[in-house]
Amino acid sequence: MSLLDFQRHFPDERRCHEYLAKIRFPGGFVCPRCGSLSAALIEKRSLWQCRACRNQVSVTAGTMFHRTRTPLLVWFWAIFLVAIDKRGHSALQLSRELSVPYDRAWRMLHKIRAAMAYRDAQYTLDGIVELDEAYFGAPDEGRRGRGTRRAKALVALGLTPDGKPRFVKIQTTKRLDARSVKTFVAAGIAPGTTTRTDGLNIYSGLRELGFVHEATVAPGKSEDDVLYWTHIVISNAKTFILGTFHGLGDMHIQRYLDEFCYRFNRRHRETEMFDRLLFACASAPPTTLAELIL
Ligand SMILES: [Zn+2]
Repeated sequence: MSLLDFQRHFPDERRCHEYLAKIRFPGGFVCPRCGSLSAALIEKRSLWQCRACRNQVSVTAGTMFHRTRTPLLVWFWAIFLVAIDKRGHSALQLSRELSVPYDRAWRMLHKIRAAMAYRDAQYTLDGIVELDEAYFGAPDEGRRGRGTRRAKALVALGLTPDGKPRFVKIQTTKRLDARSVKTFVAAGIAPGTTTRTDGLNIYSGLRELGFVHEATVAPGKSEDDVLYWTHIVISNAKTFILGTFHGLGDMHIQRYLDEFCYRFNRRHRETEMFDRLLFACASAPPTTLAELIL
């Protein structure tokens, strides 16, 4: 979708409301109180008012846009700009483009990322899945190797039967141990899946958890031969994070990884990106500021 297409689809606040209303009431408005099919839109307050009983129904309730003070049109522009920028959008860029304060642009972006995460959490990986550990974020000055304070993460990459990457999940974790592996796989990988890992003992419980487990400790084989695609995806994720979001604190690194995964998982559907992201945002539950900061 081009800028012109976007403007044609969403020229004003009303059209954005109509879009949300269509998601809320796919078969057209039905008053939850009296069943009437006729309603008027009170645009300023994002409400539909039933023409029969005057019951008011929020268009944004239960969505990411609930109680927002930002006009929907500004939100839709933000989602569009994020969707069409493959490298990821920064809060500074967005605040300039939409003439909103930096803080607000920052919060909007994080809400969009939360919607991305919510969407991807509804899918599980299956078939053949490679599992690996990774470290994200800028390395600390004067520290090296695995002892740094960089964010630790577990990575799962689903493969096609002929060994090509399909979908990825990345979860930061306080510790890289058997328990965090268990939590990670339970949430995101279907039981019975064939898992491939390196020889680290944090993966030794996978068979017990109902997975087929191929731990590769073959002598003379480098880990790169075994977890080839996973290592490429991890390296791409690092580039995505460092390239766009310099000096990023560990605190929010999961959100950026969520965005990376969301984009990666839809890399063959770029032309549908805006439609899909808008739908993800319109169907994601509200996120509070407290949740964003955590
Ligand atoms: Zn009614």
